[in-house]
Amino acid sequence: MVPGTKFWRLGIVGWPLGYSLSPRMHEAALKAAELRGEYKEYPVKPEDLEDWLSHVKEFGLDGFNVTMPHKEAVFSWMKRQGYRLGNPELNGAIGAFNTVVLSARGAVGYNTDASGFLRPLLDPPRSLDLTGWQVCLMGAGGAAQAIAASLVLETGIQRLSIWNRNGSRGEALASKINALKPSREVAVAVDEIQALPIGKSRLLVSATPIGMEGKGQLPLDPMGLHQNLVVYDLVYEPRETALIKAARERGCRVITGDEMLAAQGAASFELWTGIKEVRGTPARKVMQKALEEHYARR
Ligand code: NAP
Repeated sequence: MVPGTKFWRLGIVGWPLGYSLSPRMHEAALKAAELRGEYKEYPVKPEDLEDWLSHVKEFGLDGFNVTMPHKEAVFSWMKRQGYRLGNPELNGAIGAFNTVVLSARGAVGYNTDASGFLRPLLDPPRSLDLTGWQVCLMGAGGAAQAIAASLVLETGIQRLSIWNRNGSRGEALASKINALKPSREVAVAVDEIQALPIGKSRLLVSATPIGMEGKGQLPLDPMGLHQNLVVYDLVYEPRETALIKAARERGCRVITGDEMLAAQGAASFELWTGIKEVRGTPARKVMQKALEEHYARR
């Protein structure tokens, strides 16, 4: 096939859909890379997911993203079907896929939430070295699992303290993470949010929807936030959550959820198309610009 004549068929499966910013980011990247293609939404109810997955090749898709609530179900289904895991150690530990690459050779599943989370921390302009850091993580859902696994497997953090509303889910995540590195007890779960050792920590991550409209109030005392702390909130709608505002007021460095959104999107785009940069501009920056345009219009 002559380069450039291919029509890229990409998309996202989730339920419900209609709120996702992914079509906007991926269509901006396709356009910037001068690729013909589309990124469509596939709203699929949980009870219809296996049927959709069984027929996905008939849609001619080159790849798709997976969003709530299907990430773990797609991982389990692909494992049962004997499909390959990209980056087996990390993805096996996470147990959820947000990206599937389809080709004549079959399907390969990945979790780009993990690398998407790390990029804004590790890449310029922040270029942080997390070696020896204590980290506090709020949440134990799909995103928190990807974050915990990536922090423990791909950085040198010293300790991860996890708080979750449902305490037993927090305990289960801590056990799963400790099982990855038996020589070093990294993860601990705490029962009460007040027990998170924020004072001793360098990074506080919120992987909960707290801060989105109707999803609860800031659950911690903002006076505990300090100038040596990086505060990272995964929520991107709104971008300035109560946690981010409090962190700015307390002099913390902050990372807002749109940065991770663009980074995980760019990682998926690269897995599908092989394109990381468009004429010297990283696809992540192209996606971030699409998000900036979205926020500016609101
Ligand atoms: P999930 O699997 O449904 O997990 C949700 C987590 O949030 C659970 O730990 C849950 O605790 C907790 N939670 C929910 N409502 C809460 C409340 N009112 N108070 C305290 N805790 C609450 O969802 P997810 O995929 O992990 O996503 C979590 C958040 O991250 C969402 O807002 C999502 O939009 C965002 N996210 C952002 C990106 C990005 O690129 N920026 C990527 C992925 C996810 P329980 O176990 O007690 O229910």
